[in-house]
Amino acid sequence: MHRLLARCLLGGLCLLAGPAPAQSAPPAAWLLQPAAVFDGQALHPGWAVLVEGSRIKAVGPAAQLSAPAGAQVLPLPGLTLLPGLIEGHSHLLLHPYNETSWDDQVLRESQALRVARATEHARRTLQAGFTTARDLGTEGADYADVGLKQAIEQGIIPGPRLLIATRALVATGCYGPKLSPEVAVPQGAQEVSGVDEIIRAVREQVGRGADVVKVYADYRLSAGGPAVPTFSQDELSVLVATARGLGRPVVAHASTPEGMRRATLAGVETIEHGDQGTAEVFRLMKQRGVALCPTVAAGDAILQYRGWRKGQDAEPERISQKKASVAAAHKAGVSLVVGGDVGVFPHGDNVRELELLVREYGLTPLEVLRGATSGNARLLHLPDRGQVQPGLLADLVAVPGDPTQDVGALRRVQWVMKGGVVIKGLRD
Ligand SMILES: [Zn+2]
Repeated sequence: MHRLLARCLLGGLCLLAGPAPAQSAPPAAWLLQPAAVFDGQALHPGWAVLVEGSRIKAVGPAAQLSAPAGAQVLPLPGLTLLPGLIEGHSHLLLHPYNETSWDDQVLRESQALRVARATEHARRTLQAGFTTARDLGTEGADYADVGLKQAIEQGIIPGPRLLIATRALVATGCYGPKLSPEVAVPQGAQEVSGVDEIIRAVREQVGRGADVVKVYADYRLSAGGPAVPTFSQDELSVLVATARGLGRPVVAHASTPEGMRRATLAGVETIEHGDQGTAEVFRLMKQRGVALCPTVAAGDAILQYRGWRKGQDAEPERISQKKASVAAAHKAGVSLVVGGDVGVFPHGDNVRELELLVREYGLTPLEVLRGATSGNARLLHLPDRGQVQPGLLADLVAVPGDPTQDVGALRRVQWVMKGGVVIKGLRD
């Protein structure tokens, strides 16, 4: 009887734990010997890192670290070891709009097709050195991100650790897709109006697995039209209070100064895009500790899909405005989340955002690198990652040369470890 019970329990536990990861069992310990370590803040030439199990055990000058019995010593000559990069704004369930328009993805692609693609997107993201992603909405694929996250956690498919937003919230009538006004079509996010519906929807989304709640504080009413604030101040305040009561931060899509202002006053933690941000609204964000995720790569890609021949044609107004907005945020001292809205452009090309911020938006490689590691970890409440420090997750990436001087190094990821397991080896 006892033995049977024990077997059942064991079986149950195995089921709960899910299948074993596809990768072979990692050595208990690794002594990693790169040319330098970027620890999330600064470059340290000649440092090494000791990993035990899924965590970082020690980091410091190579001479001070010795390999315990059974540890695998891995020289990484010419490479800088850094914390796994954190993508601040992704949509694993979208693929580039020059392949299929957003409307057609939402209306014509089955959820099975979208999920199948998303598994490949997750793999590419991880291979590119992004070991964590904040995925900000399924865009019509309901709660598919919940299962995607579980599949990654259970080792069924490779992918980054995910923070997910599920369906996201939009004001009734203020999102898309839109066909003729007589035709009601499924929307890319959950429509709500009034405080009762908002409270219910926030609870639904959090109850079904949302780590963050995303709201569209403004949006265009018709294709090509200007963005307008969509929710009232009261609605946004109730939304944030409800999410906060459940322990979930709120992120707001907002481009207009008024949408950004209302979202900030309501207490959201980050504002996505912020294209028309003014000095005044950025001062308010700074005062309230609200960060900006500018997603410069998204607009850059979309304008090129629409025919902008970058490098030949004059710079579009939307890009000039974006540059002014990022500069104003920077000047006001607003913290920047580094995230590109990847999905608009190809997954695995996440580093495009970092490159553009350096090459076209005047940030230094060091600022961007700190942002995509320790900065994002701080702003997204992930104290167990984003730095190379004893006790933190062994999510580590190796790139050639010095990424604190050359942002291009981050495009040439040579080696990736997630939770002490090598995902991409030196010869892969
Ligand atoms: Zn987005």
